[in-house]
Amino acid sequence: MKNSNLKDRFLDTLLGKGPDPGEKIPVLSVTQTGTVDLMKKTGAFWPEAHSNPEKMATLALAAHEITGLEAARYPYCVTVLSEALGCKVRKGSQALQPYVISHPLEVGKRVPEIPEDLLNRGRIPTVLEAGRLLKTKTGDSLPLIAGIESPASITTKLMGGDKYMKCLLKDPAYVRECLAVNTEIVIEYANALLDSGADAVCMPDGVSSPELLSPALFENFIKPVYGKFCREVNGIKIIHMCGDATPFLKTLSECGFAGISVEEKVRDLKRAKEEIGKGAILIGNVSTASTLLSGTPREVKAEAKSCLEGGIGILAPGCGIAPLTPVENMRALVEARNEYYS
Ligand SMILES: [Zn+2]
Repeated sequence: MKNSNLKDRFLDTLLGKGPDPGEKIPVLSVTQTGTVDLMKKTGAFWPEAHSNPEKMATLALAAHEITGLEAARYPYCVTVLSEALGCKVRKGSQALQPYVISHPLEVGKRVPEIPEDLLNRGRIPTVLEAGRLLKTKTGDSLPLIAGIESPASITTKLMGGDKYMKCLLKDPAYVRECLAVNTEIVIEYANALLDSGADAVCMPDGVSSPELLSPALFENFIKPVYGKFCREVNGIKIIHMCGDATPFLKTLSECGFAGISVEEKVRDLKRAKEEIGKGAILIGNVSTASTLLSGTPREVKAEAKSCLEGGIGILAPGCGIAPLTPVENMRALVEARNEYYS
């Protein structure tokens, strides 16, 4: 794998072909990378960068060109699909991500439908166009990672969190039906993202973590959804699980994800790697809230070093990068990787 470019290195890592022992592992973010510092340096500000493809691509590329992270990651929110399916979205501000403010399935027992014009709805064309622009700008030199909402996350936004959790226990058949439709929708969108330039899709699933679901609920409702998603999406799939994902890692590795991104709450990386086995790469897990956002570059490096010593497969932030994160701390993550191998 020596001398390969960043995209090849990324693909080889996730396909289990490298790196060779002692060779640098990739350092990048599979979660959101838009920060106010990068917005100021590029003129590509939120909220415009959520709906303008040029600005979306410019800000994604800035995370590579300005901080050295070895990928471009877009978009910057987890509302694109839920908005396309009818949720109202408030667009946020420079330092606040867009968020859903209405739940069209909150009342009654309607099941979502797959829109025939899904790929033309809402900001989906924007994200697809940003992927094409990034592909043109980078050729095959840099991995492009597209973020996508999970079927459970969309279901939660469509019906509201309270109803989702209640129905999981009291009306499992209804939840299963909704999840099945939303899985088809996510698969169609993920394949479109990969066709328009993305090298991988990353699915953060904040509503399916061990902090919210029992192992039995996860096994019964979420595992089949992930399995179908992984079988039917034609490219590299990465899951990001919030919280301490340790109890679900083995199940996640059986679903078919090439990469599993975890937060700093997963403390024992050796055990995490044992749970995952050889089927997937562990990604993470420098704290975004306490270290990257509020720590010093020296603290970022110290935490990154312990991730590297713990055998992380790709060095990355533990979750989405907070918008007010200083650019020096993002650079420190890359420098830590470089210093570790020098
Ligand atoms: Zn997270």
